[in-house]
Amino acid sequence: MSTSLGLNKNHLVACISCGLCLPHCPTYLVTQDESRSPRGRISLMSGVESGLMSLSEEVVESMDTCVQCLGCETACPSGVQYGTLIDQTREILHSQRKLGFRLRVGLWILLHMKILVIGSWTLAFIQRLRLIPKQILPIPKKIPFRGGRYRQHTDPEVVLFTGCVMDTWFSQIHEAALSVLDSIGVTYMVSGKETGCCGALHNHAGLRSTAKKQALHVISTLPTELPVLVDSAGCGAALKEYGSLLGTKEAEDF
Ligand code: SF4
Ligand code: SF4
Repeated sequence: MSTSLGLNKNHLVACISCGLCLPHCPTYLVTQDESRSPRGRISLMSGVESGLMSLSEEVVESMDTCVQCLGCETACPSGVQYGTLIDQTREILHSQRKLGFRLRVGLWILLHMKILVIGSWTLAFIQRLRLIPKQILPIPKKIPFRGGRYRQHTDPEVVLFTGCVMDTWFSQIHEAALSVLDSIGVTYMVSGKETGCCGALHNHAGLRSTAKKQALHVISTLPTELPVLVDSAGCGAALKEYGSLLGTKEAEDF
């Protein structure tokens, strides 16, 4: 496949190949493979962009395996905007292929909290009956039967972003974060099911317009005057990128 990724050249040449990001990249740490590192991925992007390389299976695989945690971006002394580079690359990849059925269904469910809650409850039930072989559906050890039930204050100083899967499968983490706030006397509210998903996974899958819609929804449902507290690295990285995703002043301020 030969194509241009439409990436900003200045973003690409900002990488000086120093390698300081490598110890911060989980996919590199696991594989020790340069093509699974930020430096390697940027170099492949540059190769494709300059026309020296094609969007081969290996290149696509390298981009697909990035979990977009952005650990590399904070570690980079050169200020490489890796998040923008990989978002745009994924968008191009998405425009050239069809997402698998299971992935499309999963991403759709994340935007429909009621279905996610009912589906999670059903999964928790059949999980207790030991009817789901782990190889078929790798899910956490025990999905809780109930999502988070959080105490909230009428005069909140912060809002905890609860998200989608975090809220239904890992609500104990939110409860722990809120108990820390309780112990230091900070009042809070939670974003809850109305706000729902941050759209990170949609963006990662290249569904940029869906991610943009969800970003607008999140911004419109959260109070503008309160700081947003996030206890999930993926959601936090996505929320911080809303400015560049939407390109509006409101999103930048958010
Ligand atoms: S992305 Fe940043 S830290 Fe990583 S090799 Fe390039 S310049 Fe160095
Ligand atoms: S976003 Fe995360 S997984 Fe992707 S290259 Fe950077 S550190 Fe590695």
